[in-house]
Amino acid sequence: MDISYILNELGETREDYFRAIAPPIVQTSNFAFATVADLRASFADEYATWLYSRGRNPTVDILRQKLAALDGAEDCLVFNSGAAAIFAAVLAQVGSGDHIVSVKEPYAWARKMFDDILPRFQVGVTYVEGKTVEEFEKALQPNTRVIYLESPNSWLYGLQDLAAVAALARSKGIITICDNSYCSPLYQQPYTLGIDLVLQSATKYISGHSDTVAGVLSGSKTMIERIFNSEYMNIGSGIQPFNAWLLIRGLRTLPARLERINRSTSVVLKWLQSHPRVEQVIFPFDPAFPQYELARKQMKGACGLLTFIIRTEQCQTLETFCNSLKHILMAVSWGGHESLIIPKCAGMAPEAFNPADPLHRSIRLYVGLEEPEYLVADLEQAFAAIAHLS
Ligand SMILES: *Cc1c(COP(=O)(O)O)cnc(C)c1O
Repeated sequence: MDISYILNELGETREDYFRAIAPPIVQTSNFAFATVADLRASFADEYATWLYSRGRNPTVDILRQKLAALDGAEDCLVFNSGAAAIFAAVLAQVGSGDHIVSVKEPYAWARKMFDDILPRFQVGVTYVEGKTVEEFEKALQPNTRVIYLESPNSWLYGLQDLAAVAALARSKGIITICDNSYCSPLYQQPYTLGIDLVLQSATKYISGHSDTVAGVLSGSKTMIERIFNSEYMNIGSGIQPFNAWLLIRGLRTLPARLERINRSTSVVLKWLQSHPRVEQVIFPFDPAFPQYELARKQMKGACGLLTFIIRTEQCQTLETFCNSLKHILMAVSWGGHESLIIPKCAGMAPEAFNPADPLHRSIRLYVGLEEPEYLVADLEQAFAAIAHLS
C-alpha cells in the first residue's frame, strides 16, 4: 500500500462526516441501537461493532487502519501508552508456569513487568544479550512461550536478527514480540520479517509533538481479535478519541519529520565525532557500529537518537555540560519537535559513578526539528563550559 494513501486517505470515509478533511473526534462513551436484534449482535461480537468506547470508537478505528497498514500487519490496537501495549501483548501469551526469553535491556517498564509482576504468577524470564540466534536457542525451555525483542534498543542500539529469531520461534511454536519504537514503521517492519506482535510507543514519532502518550500493538487479525476480546477490554487502557485524533494529525507529517531529523542527525553526528572531548558516538547507521551490517539489512533508516561518550573523570563535568545547554532540553522521551538530552549519570547516585565505565559517561541525544546549526552551536558552548574541567 502506498504510504501517501495510508497517511492521507485510508480509513477516512469523509462522506460520513460532511466531507470534512480532518476526521471528527467522536467523543462518546456509548452507541445507540434501534433494535434488540442489533444490540444482541453487538454483544455477541464487540470486535466487529461500535458498542462502547472502551472497545471500539470511530476516530480510533481510522487511526487503527492507518497504523496497522504502516506496520504491514492485518490489524492493530492503540493503547493509552506504550507500556500498556507491552503489558497486554505479553500477558496475552503467558499463563502460570510459562517462560519468556527476553533481550537483556528491554524498555525499563518491560523489564519491571518481567522482574516484579510476572514472577507473582510463576512466569519466569531468561535474559540474553541477543546478538546471535544461538543465544536465544540456548535459552529456550520446553515451557518457553514468548521471545521478547527490542531492536534497536533505545540507549546503546543493540539489534537482534529479527528474521532469524522469528524463524527459530516459528519452528518451536513460540510467539515473538518486538518493540519497534526506535525505528517506527517507516524504518522497520518487524511483522513483515516474521515477528508475530509488533509494538511501539506512539508517544515518540507517531505523535511527534510531545503532547500525547500512546502505544500501538500490531499483528494478525486472529491474534489482535483475541487480545481485543480479553486483555484490551479488561485492562481498559485503550486510547481516548481526542488522543487518537492527535495521532492521526501526527501521522500526516511523519515522513517529512523523519526526513528532516535524518538529515539533522547526520550533521550533529559528524560534528560530535570530530570533537576532542567525545570519545565515541554510538549510532546504528554509523559504519563503525558493531552491528552496522545487520542494521543496514533489516532497517530502512535510522535517525534521531544517538549516544555519545564524553572524556571526563568526574560526574560533575557531565552535569555541568548538561546544565549548560541553553536550547536542547533535559527530559525523558523523544520523537517530538524538540531536541533532548539525558545523561546516564542522572539514573545513578553520584557516588556510584565510575569513570572507567564508558556507559556512566554516556549521554543520549535526541535530534528534533530545529536547525542542525542551532543544535551544534548549543552543544559547542556546553563543551566550552567544561573545557577547563577534567
Ligand atoms: C517510551 C518507550 C516505551 C514506552 O512507551 P510509553 O508510551 O512511554 O508508555 C516503550 N519502549 C520504548 C523503546 C520506549 O522508548
